[in-house]
Amino acid sequence: MKRFLETNDQQSSSKKTKTENSSSDFVISIQNNRLKTAESIRDFKFNKKRVKILSKVEDVAEKSNGIAYWMARDQRVQDNWALLFSQNLAIKNKIPLHVVFCLTDGFLGATIRHFDFMLKGLEEVANDCTTLNINFHLLRGEHTKEIPKFIKNNKIGAVVCDFSPLRIHRSWVDGIKKELPPYVPLVQVDAHNIVPIWITSDKQEYAARTIRNKINSKLGEFLTEFPPLVKHPHKSTEMPDKIDWKKTLQSLKVDETVGVVDWIKPGYKNAVEVLETFINKRLKVFATKRNDPTINALSNLSPFFHFGQISVQRAIIEVQKHKSKAKDSVDAFCEEAIVRRELSDNFCFHNKNYDNLDGITDWAKITLNAHRKDKRPYLYTRDELEKSKTHDDLWNAAQNQLRVEAKLHGFLRMYWAKKILEWTASPEEALETAIYLNDRYNLDGRDPNGYVGCMWSIGGIHDQGWGERAVFGKIRYMNYEGCKRKFDIKAFIARYGGVVHKKK
Ligand SMILES: Cc1cc2nc3c(=O)[nH]c(=O)nc-3n(C[C@H](O)[C@H](O)[C@H](O)COP(=O)(O)OP(=O)(O)OC[C@H]3O[C@@H](n4cnc5c(N)ncnc54)[C@H](O)[C@@H]3O)c2cc1C
Repeated sequence: MKRFLETNDQQSSSKKTKTENSSSDFVISIQNNRLKTAESIRDFKFNKKRVKILSKVEDVAEKSNGIAYWMARDQRVQDNWALLFSQNLAIKNKIPLHVVFCLTDGFLGATIRHFDFMLKGLEEVANDCTTLNINFHLLRGEHTKEIPKFIKNNKIGAVVCDFSPLRIHRSWVDGIKKELPPYVPLVQVDAHNIVPIWITSDKQEYAARTIRNKINSKLGEFLTEFPPLVKHPHKSTEMPDKIDWKKTLQSLKVDETVGVVDWIKPGYKNAVEVLETFINKRLKVFATKRNDPTINALSNLSPFFHFGQISVQRAIIEVQKHKSKAKDSVDAFCEEAIVRRELSDNFCFHNKNYDNLDGITDWAKITLNAHRKDKRPYLYTRDELEKSKTHDDLWNAAQNQLRVEAKLHGFLRMYWAKKILEWTASPEEALETAIYLNDRYNLDGRDPNGYVGCMWSIGGIHDQGWGERAVFGKIRYMNYEGCKRKFDIKAFIARYGGVVHKKK
């Protein structure tokens, strides 16, 4: 199978002019822009609206040995509001700064594909922390036990965490809050959304049209340059435990049958390189070709965004510099990466049923129930779907792309999920299957965008009712003929080896 995505996404090593460890000109120019913004976070007016104090106490505990940033969703050193806030606090109190990450084996069904990508990104984080006099600690086990234990053992004076709307992260935050010593403050910073989730809206928004202006009208305040995270002036006298990254990966008890991919390389520097190539090569066609799965027009940034290896805010700042040359594309990218993405966080934050059909709107529940007993044109098991064994060569090709490349094209994700609704016994089974396959294979899986994408396709969230038809009711329908009109499906099928399977 020809690997479509590997084409010029990341320059081959022979084309690289710098050595592996040195930084590209683009990385350097980004760092220079940070330096132009402020010398450090101490000279920068930090917008406190990004911060929520979760504990009763607010003041850093006295005689403490440092501030800890418990890193979870935003796995990067620079352009991270949570880490910048932590450094500000540590410098103000003249104490060391620690970054703590807690590794959990059975994380929501993540496979070696996901852990490999994440750990390699974290290795870069750890190295960059060392250069900046920041201790990086990798803990293993349950967050609610290990983080408080670390805080007590190391006499940490305050804990800063990042934000995710997903229930697992929320349960860690709640659990850690309960277990922390009463004199240690816990502070949350939304380092993922450009406009902090709690500022955009205090309710679940109906659709992109209702949240768009709530976000865009606040970008003037929040879409700013970042100051640099600097060499920390207060070095810890104790060294963190040495991490053997290879052994750590090997020691994980995770599914190893879902292979690692090589067309995309993890970590901040690689993310910046992908961003640069996107801007130079693909941005100009993003507006017109992003719905064509045979054309390499997308940013391919979602795996990096998902693991927080690059900040979306950074990507937007850099992309927006090209507005005069490619206005439509820049606008389209901002719509996807700001409005649609932050709408997903809004949905998961305000709807505890963000991944099941109790979370969909009444009109969609009614219509799916009314068509529950409709005869399905085809019925497939999860195994048949997973192995691309349907009668539909386009769907099979899409599933092949997902399984092998770890990133299904954005347009086809909609067709792919809608067909699962059509070919499984109930909407509940369809949603469960779609989320299972999405999260098992996509590198960007287990993300608010993924839950919302599946809930949009199968449960009509953020959408309206359409003409009624079998199985779907009023949920928007997509079909093979429609795809044929949109792009060269034969080329896509040939590229990903989609074949028609007949049921025996
Ligand atoms: C059924 C289904 C499942 C999906 N699963 C995931 C998932 O697991 N993880 C994930 O990150 N996205 C998911 N999406 C949303 C979208 O398809 C991907 O974000 C996009 O294809 C990622 O590729 P890219 O970064 O090259 O996208 P680009 O088109 O370059 O977009 C840039 C960024 O904008 C955001 N974005 C783009 N499209 C959407 C969208 N429809 N909704 C919200 N944000 C968007 C993403 O952060 C993306 O990285 C899903 C969509 C559907 C319909």
